[in-house]
Amino acid sequence: MNNTKYNKGLHDIGNGIYAYLQPDGSWGWSNAGLITDCNESLLVDTLYDQPLTATMLKAMKDATGIEAKEINTLVNTHANGDHTWGNGLVRNAEIITSKQTAEQMLEEISPQMMVNMLLNAKNMGEAGEFILENFSGFAWEGLEVTMPTKTFEGELDLKVGHKSVKLKNVGPAHTDGDTLVYVPDDKVIYTGDILFIDGTPVIWSGPTSNWIKACDYILSLDVDVIVPGHGPITDKNGVRQVRDYLNYISVESRRRFDAGMNFYEAANDIALGDFGKWTDTERIVINVFSQYKEFNKETTKAEVPDIIELLKLMQQYKNNNSLKSTHSHNCCENH
Ligand SMILES: [Zn+2]
Repeated sequence: MNNTKYNKGLHDIGNGIYAYLQPDGSWGWSNAGLITDCNESLLVDTLYDQPLTATMLKAMKDATGIEAKEINTLVNTHANGDHTWGNGLVRNAEIITSKQTAEQMLEEISPQMMVNMLLNAKNMGEAGEFILENFSGFAWEGLEVTMPTKTFEGELDLKVGHKSVKLKNVGPAHTDGDTLVYVPDDKVIYTGDILFIDGTPVIWSGPTSNWIKACDYILSLDVDVIVPGHGPITDKNGVRQVRDYLNYISVESRRRFDAGMNFYEAANDIALGDFGKWTDTERIVINVFSQYKEFNKETTKAEVPDIIELLKLMQQYKNNNSLKSTHSHNCCENH
């Protein structure tokens, strides 16, 4: 068990290993990491824009003396912008991802598309409301995405100084490729977005069963310190909570699919219990949608709203649920 507080900035895990955390971990506020030994270094992920990444790299230099241009290797755990859009500041490094992540990076929404959506958000109804609430304030103007320079399939063993570092692609799960970065001698693992801690996981790709398998794989390793893609540093209890959520969503979605509910009705109908204390509960809309996509493949039914429609439905879910909580609050006052 570790006692690291969830403060913004660089956390020294010990023996040349660091985590960089960005509370509160919600949309776009991701974590990263640095592994160093004998003047060699490996950076795990960059952040959502270059100023955020520059601040992180400065903190890393202050702690280790290693400048951004001296970083040997960058591993992008997956394709989402909040883990890759700062890559341009680490151009001297060899940039490694799984083959699936490199492919997905070519298809991902671009920084310019995000800028355009923000400019147009006022005309986009509830989807626009969602975009303004969650994605304002990042510096994406003119940002070009820097692509990986090396890809791997399955697993890749690296050395940082004398330290062994094991990369393993456990995707598709959160995205098409999801790489774990494991440092066995130090019993530390960086999981990318295979783990959201105290925040709701989001199933962009699935299958969910594969993500649950990834959680089981982490639980099988000899690890003490687990750095998630979002949220505070955790241990195996954090992994179990994510696995429990995924199991729960999977079972409850299936029940409602079989009963003929549509995915949005199902998302609203599933009681979150303790999972409701996490941030970004509205992601259940995407999660149930992803489950239905899997079920529909079995039944060949098609139900495919686009991303803007999903953003709109997430905003509706948020608005409904804040109405529900205001309503129950009033009821209490009346009695
Ligand atoms: Zn992320």
